[in-house]
Amino acid sequence: MAFWQARDFLFCGVCGTLLTFDSIQSASCPLCGFKRKAKDIEGKETRYTVTAEDIRRELKIEPFVTLESGPMEEVVVQRPVIRRTCPECNHSKAEYYTRQMRSADEGETTFYECTKCQHKFKD
Ligand SMILES: [Zn+2]
Ligand SMILES: [Zn+2]
Repeated sequence: MAFWQARDFLFCGVCGTLLTFDSIQSASCPLCGFKRKAKDIEGKETRYTVTAEDIRRELKIEPFVTLESGPMEEVVVQRPVIRRTCPECNHSKAEYYTRQMRSADEGETTFYECTKCQHKFKD
């Protein structure tokens, strides 16, 4: 694949930034993290203009930013509060949330945060 042929497809379908090649197999947008496989670029080089929507549908990805809605949504995550005794202050309620650990096989870990003293603890 000649570089110039693929040129038009080297731009982020989400925000229009020039993609950078992570490897021979994939390119990604340095701005929003949009990823495209080199394979897809090859296949589309002489076809129609692909809209961000098409790409999203095709690659089944959720973009990190949505241009139509302007600035990033301000999502205030309301954490559920459950009965949990804080080991620090013995308060009986804590918010809980899960977090994906770095190593994949550890899975999700549940954390608790005391609603009174904000002490964080886990099971
Ligand atoms: Zn982008
Ligand atoms: Zn506490």
